[in-house]
Amino acid sequence: MAACNDYYYATRDPLGSAGDFTTAPEISQMFGEVVGAALTDVWRRAGSPAHAAYVELGPGRGTLAADALRVMRSAGLDPDIFLVETSPTLREVQAAALNGTITHVDMIDALPGDRPLLVVANEFLDALPIRQHVDGAERHVTLTPAGLAFDRDGTILETSPARDEAVEALSEGLVAVGGVALVIDYGHARTAPGDTLQAVREHRFAPVLADPGEADLTSHVDFERVADIAREAGAFVAGPVEQGPWLERLGIQARARVLANASPERAGDIEAARARLCRPDAMGSLFKVLAIHSPEWPSPAGL
Ligand code: SAH
Repeated sequence: MAACNDYYYATRDPLGSAGDFTTAPEISQMFGEVVGAALTDVWRRAGSPAHAAYVELGPGRGTLAADALRVMRSAGLDPDIFLVETSPTLREVQAAALNGTITHVDMIDALPGDRPLLVVANEFLDALPIRQHVDGAERHVTLTPAGLAFDRDGTILETSPARDEAVEALSEGLVAVGGVALVIDYGHARTAPGDTLQAVREHRFAPVLADPGEADLTSHVDFERVADIAREAGAFVAGPVEQGPWLERLGIQARARVLANASPERAGDIEAARARLCRPDAMGSLFKVLAIHSPEWPSPAGL
């Protein structure tokens, strides 16, 4: 899964209608704007520390960062930008989408250790590799005459050492320098068995073992596990809450009205995007928002 996704992301921009999948920031500017407002608010309540950094994990096209930073700057917060991104292709797209001082790093460990961090990770953890286990034995992929196949079936438990390490490094970083992270992803609030590995290509589910490296491989994030790891690292946690109610509490409806009044010809599209982000039968319920923050920082709003 790691090798497939490394290759997949390094060799294309997979986002948007011409690509394989569409994420919340690509649906509407309102998503990134709400994130920017939430970060600005918590930064102010933390005493408006100078030199806070904006950090994004897996920033895709840089759309979320551009929308969030526009709101932050209009409110007097102009952070340096640190992007954790391994794909050379997407690094270029991000640099073109953003202005300001941008530093790309490969790993969370390489983030600055001398200033508070305002972190966003949208659909990042789901792309990190998982392991699957059946009756206590790890499920492997084998090569058969018919192609790739799983070597066992049954009730599946998923673990993700890579995800655990990422959350631990992030939480330790926040505890060391202060700050907050908004982790947004699809997944479940409680640890549960189940096979959630999926491949998406051209906006449809694809067989997970077909065409390795040519589809987006993800799995659902176990938010109970993420929260436990963050707490073990000494951080505080708020949430998870469902994305729809979170966006609504932070005022997405009011923002949609302002945008629709400014561009009446786009009012229908704006309302459709708001509904897609918020409705329980679209992205509003499956997607969750969890905040991880250093003990001396307040919790972000809406959680
Ligand atoms: N957050 C963006 C993109 C999500 S796609 C959005 O919401 O639109 C996943 C992103 O994570 C891509 O930018 C991908 O290149 C990056 N990524 C995947 N695996 C990674 C890894 N191991 N280290 C760093 N970045 C990774």
